[in-house]
Amino acid sequence: MSTNKLYLGYHVSSAGGYMAMGKRAAALGANAFAFFTRNPRGGAAAKVEEADVAAFRAWAAEQGFGPLVAHSPYTLNPCSDKPSVRDFAKRAFTEDLERMELTPGCFYNFHPGSHVGQGTEAGIEMIAELLNAVLSPDMHTTVLLETMAGKGSEIGGKFEELREIIDRVELKDKLGVCLDTCHIWDGGYDIVSDPDAVFAEFDRVIGLDRLKAVHLNNSLNGLGSHKDRHAKILEGVLPPEALVRIVCHKALAGRPFILETPNDDAGYAAEIAWCAMREIKAVLWDVDGTLLDFLAAEREAIKTCFSLFGLGECTDEMIAQYSAINVRWWQALERGEYTKPEILVGRFVEFFTARGID
Ligand code: FE
Ligand code: FE
Ligand code: ZN
Repeated sequence: MSTNKLYLGYHVSSAGGYMAMGKRAAALGANAFAFFTRNPRGGAAAKVEEADVAAFRAWAAEQGFGPLVAHSPYTLNPCSDKPSVRDFAKRAFTEDLERMELTPGCFYNFHPGSHVGQGTEAGIEMIAELLNAVLSPDMHTTVLLETMAGKGSEIGGKFEELREIIDRVELKDKLGVCLDTCHIWDGGYDIVSDPDAVFAEFDRVIGLDRLKAVHLNNSLNGLGSHKDRHAKILEGVLPPEALVRIVCHKALAGRPFILETPNDDAGYAAEIAWCAMREIKAVLWDVDGTLLDFLAAEREAIKTCFSLFGLGECTDEMIAQYSAINVRWWQALERGEYTKPEILVGRFVEFFTARGID
């Protein structure tokens, strides 16, 4: 499989175990998902059935699912001023990482923490301290620091703060970052007018190779508002086209995109379909991004057809004609005039018919 495959998913309920989560996600058209390792407000983790995990892993591999993006509970705060809260953070983190070993090669995402008035420097130090206590050289999970909106005393609203944490952790190869589009927008990073500049900044400060997953959300509030209120993809202040550019952006190719939008199942299914569809549109309409490779691959397919069927040379003019036909068919699909299987065949037929070949 191509490393640039688009992985789209959402936060699924963890009820019923791993296989149930996978089936739930697949039913809505997802090929990746996030889940809470325990009640998001805290509490004990549900028991894990090893047979369930094994069955899920085999099934997910067969389905071509992306890596799991597990989420720690919201109550996990490594830089609280209360020792009992910090103790819970360490215990929950340790238990969750143990559980993550059952699904090697996946991600465990957490909110770095809120320093509750103790200061950013003290907070960063306590977060790094926790990570140094719980990470181990032989673990098979990458722990992701989530980019935050900078609400209240939250740490992680600036890329520099995440970098500071990473710098103070010994086992840096176990660390990555999960980029939340609502959070960074609320944090003041303008992904609408200049996403390239934001990713260049991320690369300069943290390094794009650390960026392992994306939370794809719209926001209810303006740039730099530090509010952290998620909105549906089509209903927030970010123009949906800006989110499409994020999904297609070459800096993020191959990462799992997880919706954390306020939706029911039907809403998630619609947003997943919409994102996948917009991906195709972005490709055909030349919005920048590696998914342009899709079109290149199609051109190659046309050339291969020519040589396979002994039709002579496939010229640039023919490729341009094919591309124009292609775009019209996808537009017709969007208007609901055809189904996907129909257009997959239809555009080739039209192209070859137009060239007098059948
Ligand atoms: Fe989160
Ligand atoms: Fe998030
Ligand atoms: Zn949020």
